[in-house]
Order: sequence, then C-alpha cells, then structure tokens
Amino acid sequence: MLSSPEDLLVFEYDAGFDRNAPSAVVVPGTAEEVAGVVRAARDAGVGVVPRGAGTGLAGGSIACGGAVVVSTSRLRRILAIDQESRAALVEPGVVNLDLSNAARRHGLFFAPDPSSQRVSTIGGNIGNNAGGPHALRYGSVVQHVLGIEMVLADGTIASFGGRAPDLPGYDCVPLIVGSEGTLGIVTKAWVRLLPVPEHVHTFLALFPDIETGALAASRIVAAGIVPAAMEMLDRTTMGALNAAFDAHLPEEAGSLLLIEVEGLTEECTAQVARIEAICAAAGAFGARTAATAEERELLWKARKLGYAALARIKPNNYLHDAVVPRTRIPEVLRQVNAIAERYGYVTANMFHIGDGNLHPILLFDARTEPIERVMRASAEILRVAVDAGGMLSGEHGIGIEKDEFMRWVFSEDDLGAMRRARDAFDPDGRMNPGKILPGGEHCAAIATTRAKRALAGEMWV
Ligand SMILES: Cc1cc2nc3c(=O)[nH]c(=O)nc-3n(C[C@H](O)[C@H](O)[C@H](O)COP(=O)(O)OP(=O)(O)OC[C@H]3O[C@@H](n4cnc5c(N)ncnc54)[C@H](O)[C@@H]3O)c2cc1C
Repeated sequence: MLSSPEDLLVFEYDAGFDRNAPSAVVVPGTAEEVAGVVRAARDAGVGVVPRGAGTGLAGGSIACGGAVVVSTSRLRRILAIDQESRAALVEPGVVNLDLSNAARRHGLFFAPDPSSQRVSTIGGNIGNNAGGPHALRYGSVVQHVLGIEMVLADGTIASFGGRAPDLPGYDCVPLIVGSEGTLGIVTKAWVRLLPVPEHVHTFLALFPDIETGALAASRIVAAGIVPAAMEMLDRTTMGALNAAFDAHLPEEAGSLLLIEVEGLTEECTAQVARIEAICAAAGAFGARTAATAEERELLWKARKLGYAALARIKPNNYLHDAVVPRTRIPEVLRQVNAIAERYGYVTANMFHIGDGNLHPILLFDARTEPIERVMRASAEILRVAVDAGGMLSGEHGIGIEKDEFMRWVFSEDDLGAMRRARDAFDPDGRMNPGKILPGGEHCAAIATTRAKRALAGEMWV
C-alpha cells in the first residue's frame, strides 16, 4: 500500500485537468486481493476508485472524498489466447497494444485502438468504452467484450457473460462496459479477437480547408462506404507533428483525411477508387498512399502522437470529445472555430471524423490564462454540439468532467433510472463515488469541477 504524500502525488491526476490525492493506493496482484481491498474499504467506510494507466481525459480515475485507489498495474497477464474461438482472456492491467501484438502472432488482433493504445489498459478501455480510429468499422470496446469478472461493492467476485458470444439471461456486460468503475472493479475479461485482414490500404487525401475535408468524409459514408478508419488532421496539428517528430506531413493542405480500407484485395481496390473520386469531387487537391507497411506504421504513429506534439505550440490544451451527426460536422466546426476565435484561443483539430467524433482542442497556457475562461469556451462548444443533435462524449466518458452537463441531455426520469441501475450493483455508492451522475458531493470541492458545475447550471437556465 502506498500512502506517503510523494507516492500519492503521482496518483492525483489523469490526463484531464482535475487533481485530487487519494487517501491511499493499493496495488493488488490477484482478483482475491482486489476483493480483500474492497471489503477493507467497505469496513472503513471509504470509496474505491479503479485505475488503469490514468490516461482518461474526464477525471474518471481521480479519487475524491478520501477514496482509495486500486491500481491494476500488477494485474497485467494475458491468460489465454484462444485461436479457434478467436478470443482472449486478459487481466485489466494489460496494455491495449500488448494484447494486439500478442494476438498478431496467432493471425488475430484486438480491434479497439484508442490513440493512447501504447499505454492505456484493457480495464480502462472497458471502463470508458473506448473508441479509436478503427471504431468506424469495428465499433467501440462494448462490441468486443464477451465476458467480465468483476469485484462487486461487497467484495464478492462475480462473473458476467463468458467466452461464448451469447448466453441466456440478462446481458450485464454492455451495462458494465462504459460504467467508469462505478459498478465494480473488472479483474478479468474475455475479449473478442478478429482475423488480421488480407489487405490494408492506407492513404492521405489533401484538402484546402477543414470544411471541404469534412464534406468529403460525409459523402464517403453517405455513399455506403465504411472505411476501416477515417481521421482528420488540420494544418495546426500537421505543423506541430512536423516540428516535433519530423512527420513529413503536407502543411500546404488546410486539412487531410487519413483513410484506411481493409479486407479482400479486390474489395479494397474498388473502394479506394470510389473514395478518391468522392474526395476529388469535394475539392481534394492531392493524395498520398503509404507504399509499405513501414510507411503505414509511420502515418499512424504520427496520428497517435498528435496530442503530444501540440505541446510545441502551448503547454496546455483542452481536448473536447463531443460527438455530432456526421452531416452536421462542417457547420458545427464553423461554430466551434467562431467560439475559439471570440475567446482568442488557437485551436487544433485531429479527430475520428468517420464516426462524427469531434476533438477540437483549445490550446492555452495555464500559467497565464485562467482555467475558468477555458471552461466557459468549452461549455459553449459542448452546447453547440448538443444543439446539433450530438452527445456529451463520444469515447472519453463523463467522469467528473461532464457529470453536471448530463442534465442537458437526460431528464430527471432518465437519471433516476441510471441511479437505480447503479444501486443494484452498489447501493451505498462506494465504487468510484462522484462520477458520471450529476449532483454527487464527493468531487464537488475540486476547482475545475466547481467551475463546470457553475457553467452547466448557468447555461441551462
Ligand atoms: C493522448 C491520448 C489519446 C487518447 N485517445 C483516445 C482515443 O482515441 N479513444 C478513446 O476512447 N480514448 C482516448 N483517450 C482517453 C483514454 O486513453 C481512454 O479512455 C482509455 O481507455 C483509458 O485507459 P486507462 O488505462 O488510462 O484508464 P484510466 O484513465 O486509469 O481509467 C479510466 C476509467 O476506467 C475506470 N477503470 C480503470 N480500470 C478499471 C477496472 N479494472 N475496472 C473498472 N473500471 C476501471 C477508471 O475508474 C476510470 O473511470 C486518449 C487519451 C490520451 C491522453
């Protein structure tokens, strides 16, 4: 158990803004040890917060109100890869990319690939129902979890689902995936693996600006084509990546679409031709194809390092995660840019455009620019997305970042139903207290949370 102030310091934050030290950090090595910790916490009357790699962006793994953090960093074994039934049994601390790399040795891969996949864990991916570039074709984590072993709030170890794709009775797995640790601590998961496709074609289409790129993306999907991935990067992001990692991205473009199609070779060739024609008609002025597997790898590496590269421009940024109907993207982006301009923030855009998942990023310097002002601009951006028929989060979760904004999109009846579902697992609210549902007091003292609460109320009125 870790309890010295210097040890707790490294567990007081995730990749978002909020900070708060836990009362202690426990690092169990088995499900039984996790159960023991949960029982001890129950007896002591304190909350328990599961934590994977801490790359979450919504404050989900931050402990509030004296809660204890349960780190899964010692639960990192791949227990089985079953080639025949295309499934793997893993502990929650397994790093996403490690699972895919291990599965590739059997001709298989784990499809969910958040850009944080080099460090984020399967437990955290399950907690947040992570997406990623390839969610466009393969769906998010919920589509890839078959069964879960979980320590419940009373310290018992329960199983839901299993290795088989469909079991009789109520299916609790989709309820647990995305519950951000509020229903229990996942200690094992059976996940689906997919066969590595025969052919992969990765290419860039270059556009004069974001709007023409967004128009092309919308037309590609409207034409009934579902690429494996379709990502947009704007000029600001490309410039940062070139400066930081010598990525050789074409800064003469106002935006680019990084598109990947995969499947049978003939199928891919036909799809690429149709996509290129749609891009050209929408205003693309160039295309580049990754000629080798190494080039493909470099393009994806660049995409996935984009967030880190932006620190070249400003030391801090606020990454949004709203999702909007694809056809509304050009118009929503126009409004987002207008808001950022009014506040005087530089923005960068790098997002999973194929599934409407916007990630406008406000760049700022927290040493000189007040966080409350960033929050104010962010709340306006979120409101624009919601008004366009969108949702608060496409993949990063609600955590303590957006709990109060839940009232914008759910009625009191809806929220009451969610509370009852949570109570069925955890009647005393000990598992990750203060997360997801609005009105929780546990995390109310944290500074940016307070700012968001105020804004949520203000903008609702
Ligand atoms: C640079 C960067 C890029 C990112 N790109 C993406 C992306 O493309 N797509 C995407 O979806 N997200 C992305 N994220 C967000 C984040 O990486 C994901 O949400 C990821 O799934 C979090 O995993 P983690 O191991 O870091 O979990 P943590 O941050 O530690 O925890 C996340 C949530 O899961 C809960 N949790 C953790 N372990 C367990 C467990 N064993 N049982 C129950 N609950 C648990 C926690 O309590 C918390 O609520 C990105 C983040 C960064 C910093």
